[in-house]
Amino acid sequence: MSGSNRSIERSPQEAARLLRQRLEMGGGELYLDGMTREEALEQVSRAKGKGTRQRPTAAPTSTQAPTQAQSPAPGVGSSTGGAAKSSGALPAVLPDDYAGLREIALECTRCGLASGRTQVVFSDGPPTARLMVVGEAPGANEDASGVPFVGMAGQFLDLLLATVELSRKDSVYIANVLKCRPPGNRDPQPEEIEACSPFLLKQIDLVKPRALLAVGSFSARLLTGRDGTALGKLRGAVHTYHGVPLVVTYHPAALLRNRRWIRSFWDDLQLLRSVIDGDHA
Ligand code: SF4
Repeated sequence: MSGSNRSIERSPQEAARLLRQRLEMGGGELYLDGMTREEALEQVSRAKGKGTRQRPTAAPTSTQAPTQAQSPAPGVGSSTGGAAKSSGALPAVLPDDYAGLREIALECTRCGLASGRTQVVFSDGPPTARLMVVGEAPGANEDASGVPFVGMAGQFLDLLLATVELSRKDSVYIANVLKCRPPGNRDPQPEEIEACSPFLLKQIDLVKPRALLAVGSFSARLLTGRDGTALGKLRGAVHTYHGVPLVVTYHPAALLRNRRWIRSFWDDLQLLRSVIDGDHA
């Protein structure tokens, strides 16, 4: 058993490597040769503090119009006319440039969640990413920071993604179904989902990820269209969402509560990686 001081000197890359080794050997829990879960998460947090990942404070680079064959969705269309600002109703056609879409979302008051938010949580990661992670809605930390998946659950997600060499620094884009925090972290309401879904669909349309990863039962059910189905029954298969391959798995916050699911998450990451690499039949 290594001492704590030696453990906290490890880099996040080493923590990810050790975790990967342990999972490949069949381990299902997070014990990293003397590094506790908290120490591993601290490593990731410290690395972020050193500026390995930039918080998006300005609109990212625009992307081109989508090329994927996707079904049209309510509120989602194509335009070459740039962004029109919204204060309530969305424009009939959302813009095809990423910066314009983000600008509209940041000012959106289309549903009641606008009144209680600190800020809109649009995304994190590059809009050129190979993987798009989709969560449910911002929590308190996200509402305060404007960045999705911060706090311990977000750090744990980063660590697990690093085991398959994916990072929101260069290859992972993260967004939620809802861009504003529901009060008290309650479940999203159908009218809120309907109001906000055009943003998510357009994000997928513009980012054009090779794969989607839905984390947690809410986003898994929504993206698979299998309302009422247990998450365990949706795992282990490749679904599609508007033409994009989709893998579903547990929410990282659930993994922190139940370490037995880490092994399953790892299996889902392997499936996801095979989809991204084009190895999945
Ligand atoms: S949750 Fe979505 S639809 Fe509702 S105000 Fe926020 S950005 Fe607009």
